[in-house]
Amino acid sequence: MSGRRPLVAANWKMNGSLESMGGLVDTISQGVSKETKAEVLICPPYVYIQELGRAIEKTEIQLGAQNVSHMDSGAFTGEVAPAMLKDFACDYVIVGHSERRTLYGENDLRVAEKFVAVQANGMIPILCIGELLEEREANTTEEVIARQLDAVIDLAGIQAFKQAVIAYEPVWAIGTGVTATPEQAQEVHEFIRLRLARHDHETAEGVRILYGGSVKADNAKQLFELADIDGGLIGGASLVAEDFLTICHSVR
Ligand code: PEP
Repeated sequence: MSGRRPLVAANWKMNGSLESMGGLVDTISQGVSKETKAEVLICPPYVYIQELGRAIEKTEIQLGAQNVSHMDSGAFTGEVAPAMLKDFACDYVIVGHSERRTLYGENDLRVAEKFVAVQANGMIPILCIGELLEEREANTTEEVIARQLDAVIDLAGIQAFKQAVIAYEPVWAIGTGVTATPEQAQEVHEFIRLRLARHDHETAEGVRILYGGSVKADNAKQLFELADIDGGLIGGASLVAEDFLTICHSVR
């Protein structure tokens, strides 16, 4: 047994309204209790964090953000500082989601800076890494994953992974309905853990590595059963409360 408590995280992206998210939170919180094996996390859009944070105060659900600035404060119009998220009791912050990397040009160094900023403010980063379809087809998946991971190890140090979560999200599987096969996912998860173990075995064994990319109510169980998969980062399916709850209850 690894001793890693599985984590199932909802990434609601730029969807919903205050009303629809409130309803989602109500139903999810009714289905999650102290007995739930997985730790359950919601990452709403920034503007709903305060309100939804209040709604889950007395529940077992954790609160996170989808992104953050790498800077503490200043003239950065439209950005949100890590301390502001901490003010609203965020526990986790997603950094380096592929949509941030591809649509907003965040490079490995910027993602690493965000990772460091999140930890410096007492929260846990969920570091997203993953290859594009063309990178998988060119057989460079491990090279890409190693590069994305090493950028963070170089800046933050290996010990920082004691207070971090990694999400392996093959970009070709995000929002496409195409899920990585359990073999494909496990292979990369194992590679990630071995890459960390080169620096520190204990840290590598302790870090939770989530799978993300078209996880659904009917495929979560077979993914979560695998040795190096410690839960999931869920996009589309987390917008349907019943589906998300089924996924939450699919952990080993
Ligand atoms: C995501 O955006 O992190 C994600 C995994 O999305 P989906 O579940 O919709 O593929």
